[in-house]
Amino acid sequence: MTENQIYNANCVRCPRLAKHLQTVRDAYPDYHGLPVASFGAKRPKLLIVGLAPGMHGANATGRPFTGDYAGILLYKALYQYGFSNQETAISVDDGLKLKNCRITNAVKCLPPENKPVAAEINMCNAYLQSEIASLGRRFVILALGGIAHKAVLKALALRNKDYVFGHGALHSIGEQRCLLDSYHCSRYNTQTRRLSEQMFFDIFDKIHELLDVK
Ligand code: SF4
Repeated sequence: MTENQIYNANCVRCPRLAKHLQTVRDAYPDYHGLPVASFGAKRPKLLIVGLAPGMHGANATGRPFTGDYAGILLYKALYQYGFSNQETAISVDDGLKLKNCRITNAVKCLPPENKPVAAEINMCNAYLQSEIASLGRRFVILALGGIAHKAVLKALALRNKDYVFGHGALHSIGEQRCLLDSYHCSRYNTQTRRLSEQMFFDIFDKIHELLDVK
């Protein structure tokens, strides 16, 4: 990748993931089946970092959290808190627009069984690093889950032990910049009630307070 590149549709730097995507493209020729670019505003106040594309969601549609279960709650919250123009995300041409917000993933390619290995998270971190560097002066990063949290810390060259992950934990990462943690809005977490809709909306209440966005 070139310096400051936040996305490369042809990236095959993780051999296991590149091979997996080839298999997926063969089985599902209509699927996107490539690294998934971030989506949303160019200079967002809120950057949401997920884990990786889901098989029949972002990997199929080519847009983060679009067409899968995890996107249902995320896009509902974004709409209710004024970060988007509609509540649902079905496909890249569904008319959805984000305002003051961008969504990305710690790992841009679909991992087998939704589990990227450490080397892949580290390899993809250069893109996240560039993405965070492109943000403005004041921002909130919302990390969905522990892996996204650690990926953000790595991108910022911060130590894990100084910023421990916890649902609702707010970490200052510089003047007018913070990292906020949430449990991932995955099917597993919502169906087991580890993350309720209200808990997720409380996270967005906090984001609103921090950013005072209209
Ligand atoms: S996960 Fe990231 S670094 Fe690895 S192949 Fe995909 S885009 Fe490239």
